[in-house]
Amino acid sequence: EMVAPEILMPAPMLPSVITALQDRFFLHCLWEQADPDAVLKLVGTRVRGLAVSTLAGRIDSDWLERLPALEIIANFGVGYDNVDAETAASRGIVVTNTPGVLDEEVADLTMGLLLATLRRIPQADRFVREGGWLSGKFPLSPTLRGRRIGILGLGAIGKAIARRLEAFGVPIAYHGRSRQRDVSYEYHATPTALAAVSDVLIAIVPGGPATKHLVDAEVLAALGPDGVLINVSRGSVVDEAALIQALQAGTILSAGIDVFEDEPRVPPALLQMPNVVLLPHIGSASHRTRAAMGQMVVDNLISWFDNGRAISPVAETAARS
Ligand code: NDP
Repeated sequence: EMVAPEILMPAPMLPSVITALQDRFFLHCLWEQADPDAVLKLVGTRVRGLAVSTLAGRIDSDWLERLPALEIIANFGVGYDNVDAETAASRGIVVTNTPGVLDEEVADLTMGLLLATLRRIPQADRFVREGGWLSGKFPLSPTLRGRRIGILGLGAIGKAIARRLEAFGVPIAYHGRSRQRDVSYEYHATPTALAAVSDVLIAIVPGGPATKHLVDAEVLAALGPDGVLINVSRGSVVDEAALIQALQAGTILSAGIDVFEDEPRVPPALLQMPNVVLLPHIGSASHRTRAAMGQMVVDNLISWFDNGRAISPVAETAARS
């Protein structure tokens, strides 16, 4: 190309992403501007690519109207509920995400969160630090032994979690909108039916309106008083108020939670509870995996402007690429 395409980055991303994009494109770092609105008015009509993470807020029709020449939105993350992909598709804009490179990392973290929640590892660490061990023994904990695991959303990450659970020697069942022919795990047609046969329910579906409050009071009641909820999907997937009530009432035993409805705000009721483990949305958050995700953002933009093909377009916009 004669002139480098103009790319807009509304909020900061990894330094490696910024450097790589500056090498190839004319990059506008909007958050560095004293008057972002004025800059957007000035360059908005020329911007052909958008590089975003959840830090940029929701990319909706308001954004798209200000960027009439936009061709591609490259999202940092496999989940893209922060982008209105339907509207982008209707305007002929491709949306890309970062599938695959984070599956094993998120599955590892999920196993850590599961064991931490069951064996109360963070609570035990606090016990040692606070000197509790000097005057007594840490209380016996619940266990993974003998538990049946329900995976809500047996996709790429759900399967990586299932592979690990096989090695742990616990039975696995799953729910998705449809049964998978090439999968031998027991299928259940509803989240409630899955919860009813599970002692641990692991949520790893995408976010967005279709899965909003998929885990509600009814599902939690079906999980039962010895049940444990692990949420590594999106905060919107779990009815947080219903979860708090279920934990307070003993409807379920405990929960391990990486994602919340109003991040980074965690409900004070959860902060008070001794039987929950709370993480700050760190599923993919290692140096190595975040670098791989960043490279995929860069590669999608380069491939698009080199040869008109995105590497990992999301389902809604796959036909466009
Ligand atoms: P995939 O698309 O590979 O898998 C998603 C699975 O969810 C599919 O098996 C699908 O099955 C199922 N599913 C989709 N919609 C529904 C629905 N409405 N009801 C029931 N099941 C549904 O995605 P990934 O495994 O790569 O990622 C899953 C999600 O994990 C991401 O979208 C993201 O939100 C979250 N995530 C969280 C991270 C964290 O830091 N905590 C890190 C990375 C991802 P079917 O089509 O049969 O319904």
